[in-house]
Amino acid sequence: MENLEVAELSVAPGTRRRHKIELVELADGTTVRIPLDIIHGGQPGPKLYLGAAIHGDEVDGVAILFRALADIDPAALRGSIVCVPVQHPLSFHADHRLPISQFMKSPLDQAPADAWACFPGDADGNLAQILAATLFDMIKECDWAVDIHTPTRGGRYVPIAILPHPNLGETHAKAEEMAHAFGSGWIMRTDSGFYVADGILCVEATRAGVPAFTFETGEGGRLEEDVIDDGATYIRNVMKWLGMIDGDPMPAARTYVMREFLGLRAQRGGLLLNRKKLGDLVKAGDTLCSIVDIYGDEVETIVAPEDGVFVRTTTLSTVSRGERAATLGLL
Ligand SMILES: [Zn+2]
Repeated sequence: MENLEVAELSVAPGTRRRHKIELVELADGTTVRIPLDIIHGGQPGPKLYLGAAIHGDEVDGVAILFRALADIDPAALRGSIVCVPVQHPLSFHADHRLPISQFMKSPLDQAPADAWACFPGDADGNLAQILAATLFDMIKECDWAVDIHTPTRGGRYVPIAILPHPNLGETHAKAEEMAHAFGSGWIMRTDSGFYVADGILCVEATRAGVPAFTFETGEGGRLEEDVIDDGATYIRNVMKWLGMIDGDPMPAARTYVMREFLGLRAQRGGLLLNRKKLGDLVKAGDTLCSIVDIYGDEVETIVAPEDGVFVRTTTLSTVSRGERAATLGLL
């Protein structure tokens, strides 16, 4: 299968080709394919993997990629780009984080359900593992990788490059250099939490020698021009930094490098009102959000327990006890 894929991906130097590779066959015989946009530059250079929408409701990433690559001249490009605008077509079809019809049909068999956390995958496993294995075959052939996400619906991030686990040595250091060149102004460099766990796409790519990070931006289920434009600029910054296209990367005005996410959950149910704006620097004791009951009485204030940055807001209008209401990035 690997040889077949490599053969199918062969694109002549100086050309660009839209392509699809097989993912799975469904019950009615439909073959689900993963769409690719392969640009084989006319000049030598690095091979860059760009992926989006491994969670199907994270559509800003799809648009970031087509905008970033819209004006690439294949003949002038130094190196190659393997762009996978929709890494998980079935979840994209469901407009959901997961391929929900498959998951609902048989939740037990669909565990693990999140392909993003199943790397390097298993070609003989379930859907999530097959998908991860199929993508990983392409990722490990590349020299660098960026995996674009948004929060799922109901959440909003500052544009933040989230590094893989720092115990990954020299390859992690290269991923960190790339994150600075990316230029979004927000970097998470943490050794705890699910973003740096074994199995996450960028963690396993970096472990395999391909420096990679997760990019989170915007909000699930929405397309926003400013988020798309900015994201495309950051992707082109990486391409400039790698020498693949002409020009200097546009540096961030300032970059916050954070050491930990601190998620804050509601203790009460009600309507959620944000009292600080996304990206605000906050002090310990500042009120981040209020929860009011359906009669308008404030039942809880969610307060920053430490100084930090308000990096992720909840945009859902209501919360129940236990739901995430806010996330701080600790400096
Ligand atoms: Zn995601």
